[in-house]
Amino acid sequence: MSAPEAEQARRGWLETVDVHTDARPGPDDDRYWSRKLDTASADELAAIRTEKLRALVPYLYACVPFYRRRFDEIGLVPGDVRELSDLGAIPPVTKQDMAADLAEHPPWGGYTAVDDAGWLDRGWQTFATSGTTGAPRLFRYTAFDRETWAWTNARAMHAMGFRRGRDSAMIAFGYGPHVWLWGVHYGLNRMGIPIVTAGGVDSMLRARFIDAYRPTILAATPSYVLYLADLMRENGFDPAASSIRYLFCAGEPGFSVPALRRRLEGAWDAQLHEFYGCTEAAPSAGGHSCAAVAADPGEVSTHLLSDTHHWEVLDPETMQPVPDGQRGISVVTNLLSEASPQLRFVVGDYTRLGREPCGCGRTSTRALGGFAGRADDMLNIRGVTLFPSVLDDAVRGVAAAGSEYEVVLRRRRGLDEMTLRVEALPAADAATHGPLREAMGNAVRAAAELRAEIEVLEHGTLPRTQLKARRIRDLRE
Ligand SMILES: [Zn+2]
Repeated sequence: MSAPEAEQARRGWLETVDVHTDARPGPDDDRYWSRKLDTASADELAAIRTEKLRALVPYLYACVPFYRRRFDEIGLVPGDVRELSDLGAIPPVTKQDMAADLAEHPPWGGYTAVDDAGWLDRGWQTFATSGTTGAPRLFRYTAFDRETWAWTNARAMHAMGFRRGRDSAMIAFGYGPHVWLWGVHYGLNRMGIPIVTAGGVDSMLRARFIDAYRPTILAATPSYVLYLADLMRENGFDPAASSIRYLFCAGEPGFSVPALRRRLEGAWDAQLHEFYGCTEAAPSAGGHSCAAVAADPGEVSTHLLSDTHHWEVLDPETMQPVPDGQRGISVVTNLLSEASPQLRFVVGDYTRLGREPCGCGRTSTRALGGFAGRADDMLNIRGVTLFPSVLDDAVRGVAAAGSEYEVVLRRRRGLDEMTLRVEALPAADAATHGPLREAMGNAVRAAAELRAEIEVLEHGTLPRTQLKARRIRDLRE
């Protein structure tokens, strides 16, 4: 394909995205940032996705070598993919597919639409996958993407209840290559919500910032939110009486882990919210919580933006779509990005899809029960398969347990052994350790049908982390 033809495909794509993107600086009204899109019928949303898909496929074929090869291999031409149902002919793209492509085409891989010239002309920033499965992969996103992220994230955070004129935010993350906080940062900028800058600042100073400058939104990992609450209490501040009214968490399952959710909200007397996405194909809010769901203590659900992304849930064995309401793994087609427009990327979290309108009035597809973990992170202990979040839920549900714990897995004489090392509460005396040990053993047995050796530790024994906590130490071969 000639360069002018590729450029024409790119322009056609960006113009189509623009038609369905609000350039307005503020929300439509107090309920909806984009009323028309947030309340569109399922048919209207499908029509928008179809229109975007028809413009996207020629762009992918022209500008993304990975997809051009894939189409050629299975004998498809761009004109064959006209309807959402045609996507089924394209094999889902896994992280392993990308890793293999990256090994062949370093240092960026052939699965993005930005080449060197495009990067130097329109580039914004690189973001890296976290590298929990394999080496980190870097993605070059563009200035166009920055604007669309800001817009979708503003939509999502408006749904959570964040408001200009009342709220201000502290993002308690190092400003590193992880996508999430940057999208939040630019989204808050778009909303006109000010930020108390707290990247690269130690935790004690953050505690003082909260006390002195009174932000209402605290954005951090769930582990860090609990740690900061402990630290505040130890230093004479009361997190529950602080200015924080929203906890906006990322990096670890939180919203979907009921006992952790109660613990986080209780510690700060605040409402917990969450985005859902991935660096590769949903780096802005592919999904988000909303005020109506967050106000309900029952089962959570996560809105999945349905005009900017096409979401599927597949059976992990057959990789075929499962009916709504049935459990499978999440797969996303990104219909929004200039730099990383992916078809059927396997994000790989277990969930169930539902299409009933939400109490907030938004009509996007929802992930029922949210997302409790990636299939890659699933543990197998003595033949029992479970997510780390199941253990997390069990531990968080024991009121006498402190905020820190770790699970150590060993194999002895061919058998898996699990040791749960949990800290007691800060002021707990040794007499409480026995009952805590017993309660914790019961909680783990009830949640996971597994027996664990429980070790109770003094408060402050385990290492503290400001990012993702490594709670599972798997020492098995
Ligand atoms: Zn809702």
